[in-house]
Amino acid sequence: MEMRKTIRVKTEAWCERVRLRGGTNLAVAFCDGCGKAVRFVTPEMAAGMLHANTREVYRGIEVGDLHYLEVDKIALLVCVNSLEEKLANRANADRNP
Ligand SMILES: [Zn+2]
Repeated sequence: MEMRKTIRVKTEAWCERVRLRGGTNLAVAFCDGCGKAVRFVTPEMAAGMLHANTREVYRGIEVGDLHYLEVDKIALLVCVNSLEEKLANRANADRNP
């Protein structure tokens, strides 16, 4: 019980730090999908980038379009690289329906 509380607080503090930094340089971590260190954002931020809601973000993760990183097993972050790729693919699809 005590352990769980500590983990939650740690994650909230981490997400807060990400939010506070804002804009460009967020969390940088190694992404298995990209095979290199990339920036990660919260699902809420990812939804904002896609101009969609978080449900679309989670669906993208499920189908493998978006890479993600688990934080303390209870929160996850989305790889900005895969987000930008998804955005580019969507733009192409719009141009060539
Ligand atoms: Zn990635």
